[in-house]
Amino acid sequence: MTGKILGNRYEILEEIGNGGMAHVYKAKCMLLNRFVAVKILRSEFVSDEEFLARFNAEAQAAAALSHPNIVSIYDVGREGNIEYIVMEYVEGKTLKEYIRENKLLPWRQAVDFAIQIASALNCAHKKGIIHRDIKPQNIMLAADGVLKVTDFGIARAASSSSVTITGSAMGSVHYLSPEQARGGYTDAKSDIYSLGIVMYEMVTGKLPFDGENPVTVAIKQIQEKPVSPRDYNLAVPLSVEKIILRAMDKDQNMRYQTTLDMLGDLEAVRINPEASLSPQLQDTEGATKKIPAVKPEQLHTKIIEDEKKSAPPEDKAGQKKDEEGSKMNKAEKKAVIWAVITSVAIVAALIVGAMAVIFPDMLKGSAKDIQVPSLVGESFEDVKDLYEEQGISVKVEGEQYSDEYSVGEIIFQDPKAGRLHRLPFTINVIVSKGNEEFILDDYSKRSFIDTKIDLEDKNIVVEEVEQESEDIPQNMVIKTVPPAKSKVKAGDKVTVFVSTGIKEKPVIVPSLEGFDIQQARKILSENKLGEPNVKEVYSDKEKGVVVKQSIPASTEVREYTVIELEVSKGPELRTKDVDIRIPQEKNSTHIKILQDGVTIHDQTHYKSEGTAFGITISGRGKVVLELYYDGKLSEKMTVNL
Ligand code: ATP
Ligand code: MG
Repeated sequence: MTGKILGNRYEILEEIGNGGMAHVYKAKCMLLNRFVAVKILRSEFVSDEEFLARFNAEAQAAAALSHPNIVSIYDVGREGNIEYIVMEYVEGKTLKEYIRENKLLPWRQAVDFAIQIASALNCAHKKGIIHRDIKPQNIMLAADGVLKVTDFGIARAASSSSVTITGSAMGSVHYLSPEQARGGYTDAKSDIYSLGIVMYEMVTGKLPFDGENPVTVAIKQIQEKPVSPRDYNLAVPLSVEKIILRAMDKDQNMRYQTTLDMLGDLEAVRINPEASLSPQLQDTEGATKKIPAVKPEQLHTKIIEDEKKSAPPEDKAGQKKDEEGSKMNKAEKKAVIWAVITSVAIVAALIVGAMAVIFPDMLKGSAKDIQVPSLVGESFEDVKDLYEEQGISVKVEGEQYSDEYSVGEIIFQDPKAGRLHRLPFTINVIVSKGNEEFILDDYSKRSFIDTKIDLEDKNIVVEEVEQESEDIPQNMVIKTVPPAKSKVKAGDKVTVFVSTGIKEKPVIVPSLEGFDIQQARKILSENKLGEPNVKEVYSDKEKGVVVKQSIPASTEVREYTVIELEVSKGPELRTKDVDIRIPQEKNSTHIKILQDGVTIHDQTHYKSEGTAFGITISGRGKVVLELYYDGKLSEKMTVNL
C-alpha cells in the first residue's frame, strides 16, 4: 500500500493500525497538504454489497458530525477494489493503550475523559447517530490530552455483514450493552452503557465482565452484577461509582436517559466529588440491584422459542441463582447466544467459532430448519426461481428508488438472511427502481454547510474544493460541478467550490527615504500601497524629500496599507547674534553687510561706539555674510544657524 495514491489525492505513507474490519494508514492529502488517516476496508468486506451500502451510508452520516471530541470524517471513496474512509489524523494512542500503560487512571482524569466522550456522544445523539461500538480502542488520545472518538456508526454497518471477523474484534463484546447482546432495541442508552464500562475500566483497570469466550461475556453483560468499582479502588469517590453503575444499569430505563443527564453529573463531581447528583441516583443502587433473569419472551427471534419448546430444562451452567430464577436453562442460553449472533455480526463470527467448540450441536439447527439465503444485492430475475425446488419462493412486495442498488436488484428481504426458517417459506423482497433523478438547485452564494447538509440529505456525495474568490464571501459556495439545473441522482458526486475569500498576498514595503514626495507616491501606488499620510518636517534635507517612513523598508504588509511619510520642508528658521568689528584706525567707517547677497546692514559706525557692534541674523541652515568696510569687501564668513 505504501506509496499508493488514492483518489488522486491521498498518498499512503505507513500503516498505523488494524482492526477487525480495516487497516488504517497514515497518509498525506496532497491537495490540502495535511496528514490524514485512511481506513481501508479489508477486502472480504468489499465484496459484501449490503455491508458496503450501509458502510457508506453510516460514514456519510458520521461525516456530518463536527465536534472537537469526534474524529472528523473528510471523505469516503472507492478505487477499484479499495474502499476507504479518509479521516482526521490523530497523533497519539488509543485509550486502550493508555489504560494498559497506566494500569488505571486517577478518578479525576477518568471523569475528565468521560466528559469528553459523553460530549462527543451527546453531539452525535442529538443528530440521531448512535455509535454502537464505544470501546477504548475506538477512542484516540491526542498528545494534548484531548480524546477523539472514532468509528461512529460503523458497527451498524458491520452488523449486516456475514463476513467472518477475527482478531481484535474479540474485544467488542466486553463493552456491549445487554440489549445489544440480546438483540433487543438499541438506542443512545446503549452507548451510555458502553461508556459506563469504559469508565469502570479507567478507574479500576479491570473489565467488569470477562470470560474465556465471547458468549460467556455476553451472558454476563445480560445478567451478572458487576463488582463495585470501589472494591478495586477505594480512591474512587462514591459519587463517581454511582455514576458508573447507573450508566451500566442492565435496565435501559434505570440508566441515564441521555448523555446530557450523565454529563451534568460528571461535571458536578468534577467540581466537587461530594456534590449531590441528579435525583434518581440518590436512592437507587443502580446496576448492583437484583437482576431479573433473561426471559425467553424478551428475546427477539422466533426460532428461539421453537428451540425452547424442544429443549429439556438443564442446569449445568452453574450461574448464580436468585428467587426469580436468573439461572438460564440451556434453551435460554441458546436463545441469548442466537440473539448475540443475529445482533452483532462483528461478535457473531467469533461466537460462531467459539460455539463450534462449546455447543457443537447448536450450529446445525433443527433438521427441518434451513438458513434463509441472502438475496439483498442480487438481481430479482436471477434469484426468483433459484430456490423453488427447495421450497423457498421469492415474492416482490414492493419497489423503491435506491441510490445503492441498481434497477432490479433486491434492496430488502424478509425474513433476513441467516435466520433459520422452517420449510416451505416465502421471502418477500423489495426491488430497486434505481436512482431517482432530480434537478440540482443553484447553490451559489449559499453557505457551504447548508449546501452540504441539503445535498447529503438527497444522498449526493459532496466533494469540497476550496477556491479564492473576490466577490463570493468566505465559506460561501461559488459554483457546483455539475452546475445548477443539471439532472442528478442519489449517489452522484457533486463538487462544491467553496470560497476562501481573497487570500491577500503580502506587499514588501520599498525604501522611500531620499525620494521626492511625488516619486514616492508613484512608487507606493505601483506597489499596491495606500496613499501616504504626509507630515512636513524641518530638515537639513532638501524641501520635498522624504526623510522618514513609518514602516521600515522590507517589512511585509497587507495590500493598500497606509504608510506615514515625513517630508522635508527645509531647515527651520533660526536666529543668531554675530559681533561685527568696528575699525579703530579711523574715526568713522561705513559698514555694509550682505547675507547671501542681500543687504541686511548699511550704516556708518564711529570709533566712539566701541570695538564692535552686534547684529542678529536669521535664516535656515548655512548663511554667508559678506562684510564691506567703506565699500571694500573685507571679510566673508559662513554662519551655521
Ligand atoms: P474495530 O475494527 O472493531 O473498529 P479497532 O478500533 O481496534 O477495531 P480500527 O478502527 O481499524 O480498529 O483502528 C485500528 C488502529 O488504527 C487503532 O487502534 C488506532 O491505533 C489507529 N487509528 C484508527 N483511526 C485513527 C486516526 N484517525 N488517527 C490515527 N490513528 C488511528
Ligand atoms: Mg475502530
